[in-house]
Order: sequence, then C-alpha cells, then structure tokens
Amino acid sequence: MRILKINARTVEISRYADASVPGGGLTTTVVAVVTSAERGGRPVTGYGFSSIGRFAQTGLINERFAPRLLAATDRDLVAADGTLDPTRAWDVLMKDEKAGGHGERCVAVGTLDMALWDAAAKVADVPLHMLLQRRFARAQTNRVAVYAAGGYDFPTNDIERLCDEIREFLDAGYTMVKIKIGKKALAEDLKRIEAALSIVSGARLAVDAMNRYSPRAALEAAHAIAPYALRWFEDASDPLDFDTHARLCASYEPALGIGEATFSLPDARNLLRYAGMRPARDRLIFDPAHCYGLPEYVRIIETFESAGWNRQAFFPHGGHLFSLHVAAGLGLGGSEANPRIFQPFGGFEDGAVVEDGFASLPSIPGIGFEGRAALKPLLVDLATQ
Ligand code: MG
Repeated sequence: MRILKINARTVEISRYADASVPGGGLTTTVVAVVTSAERGGRPVTGYGFSSIGRFAQTGLINERFAPRLLAATDRDLVAADGTLDPTRAWDVLMKDEKAGGHGERCVAVGTLDMALWDAAAKVADVPLHMLLQRRFARAQTNRVAVYAAGGYDFPTNDIERLCDEIREFLDAGYTMVKIKIGKKALAEDLKRIEAALSIVSGARLAVDAMNRYSPRAALEAAHAIAPYALRWFEDASDPLDFDTHARLCASYEPALGIGEATFSLPDARNLLRYAGMRPARDRLIFDPAHCYGLPEYVRIIETFESAGWNRQAFFPHGGHLFSLHVAAGLGLGGSEANPRIFQPFGGFEDGAVVEDGFASLPSIPGIGFEGRAALKPLLVDLATQ
C-alpha cells in the first residue's frame, strides 16, 4: 500500500450563511489522498480539510508534509494485517520534526491525518465512527449529543437576526446553542445574551468570546454573566494566558469552555497544570484537526483522563462530519454542529436527523464528505486534477 498522489487546494470558508455578509477572509485547505488500495476496482481516496475558523495550510502541506507520505514505503504505512494504519502514517508525517514550534504545522498535519482516517475507514468499508470504536475499544452508539453553533455578529439588525438564527436551530431539532461575544462593548454583549435568553434557558446557552477579551475584560465579563448560569463561557482570553484562566476558574462559578485554540499536547498539558480547570465542570473544546490530528488528540484525552477528567468533558470543535465521527468513535460528551455556516463543510451528512439535541450518524464508509451534494464536485475535481 502506497500513497500515489496528494492534491491540496485552498478554498474560502465563510462564517456566515448569508453570502452578502463578508466572511472575514477565512480559508481552509482541502486535500485528496489517493492510495494504491482498491475498492470496487477504484483507488481508495481519503479526503480531509483544515477544519474551520482558521486559515489554509496548503504551502506547508505541499512543501513539507505531503512529500514524506509520498516517499513512504508499504512497510511505513500499514498495520500487521496489511491495511493502512493512520497512526503509522502520522509517524511518517512527523519524521525529523523538532519539539516545540507548533505554529500551524499542527494544522497541516491534522489535515492530512483526517484524509488518512477517511481512507482507512473506506478500506475497512465502515463509517469512521465504527473504525474508531473498534480501534479504541469504545462502545457502539448510533447518535451523538450536539449543539448548534453560530450567533456571529451581523452587520445590520444584529439582535433580530441572532434571534431568528436561534429559532431556526431549535426548529431543526437542536436544544442547545452557542453564540459569539467579545467583539463589542460588554453592554452590547449582555444585550445579545439577554436576547438569546428570551428564547432558550441559560442551561441551554453557551457563549464564546473567541479569545478576544484582555485579561481584565475577561474577568469583568465573567463577573457580569455569572448570574445567567450559562452552559459554558468559552475562550475568554488568550489561550496561553494560564494565569488569567486560573483567576477565571477561581472567581467564575459556572462552567468554562477552553482548548479550542490549544494546538498541541505540550500546550494542553500546561493548560491542565496551570489553568486551574475544574474536572467535574469545565468543557474541553480541542479541535482534533487543529492539534496534529487524531493520534495527538487521543493523547490529549488520555492525559486529561490520567489527571482525573472524564472524556465526557470533551466536545470537539469544528461542527462538521469529522468532529461528529470522533465524538461518536471515542465516546466523548458530544460535538459542535455548524449546520448553517462554514459551508460547504459545516454540518453533517445531507438529510442528517437531529432530534432532541442528538444527531444521527452517517452510514457510508469513511467520513462521508463526498456524500454531501455541495462538496462532491469539489472533491471529485480535486482527486482528478
Ligand atoms: Mg470557540
């Protein structure tokens, strides 16, 4: 089994469903990894992308990481049964990389890793969540707890459009939502929160400041929103400012969400040691694709478990099919969902059912990206370019 071809392409990915609203210039890299394995007389191709909310990594993939996979021999890539083993391929990707300096290479590696898991599940002829359940000895499940993410600031009629968006989520079967704060003055953020609370209870509403608050503003915001007893308060301040986070944990009674912008096991370990987090309360939002892919994400989970955390505290960031498979396959607490935004990758399979806050799982082999009508033309074009 060899990797025959890797094609990577930068595409735009907006945080707004409405194309007339500027999306902030966000991009992602989509990759097609064509293998020598065959199913139905055709080469097995794995697809991955650089998740959402950041930027493309096409340069790093093309210049540094894809050539390592392409040069790898059968012996480097397969398990004892002769099938593609993404954890062995991960070692190939990281060969000769030095400790530290995570930068965004972790996203480039995570992008290719996602495609390798897609290919491995296709070789096994099962959906990825089943491959993960078998490999990591987790119980089978047919649904995952999900929450709908959105609530970005609209440039006009913000409160009205925010409320419309939340109602749409509830109508679609979601019971919990997450909205953004931290961009405007605190008084404006409180208006957004109170508007949302006119539709859902505090126990069903999370807020995400996207690491925008200064240390002082984070503590002020925490003090102001504590009485709402929200589901969680996510990414209050700089992700590596453990001191501020420890002060938040000491003064803010409800749950905090953290980890989305923590991209490596060493950073996660420091978070665990120094950020004052509370195992029975706080939520862990690490994005598997952003933190070096699934092998490193599993090590992060195990590190937290060995410190007394339950993996039910993990709610992977992303809101797409890969996050959903990971949450199901590793027995995590649940998954973010981006049903309206970050298209064409946001949300789950076409026709996915969300009922009472739980999403159904895809049944086609692999991750199922090409099962989405909006994605298939892009993926076919990429694989054959
Ligand atoms: Mg976030």
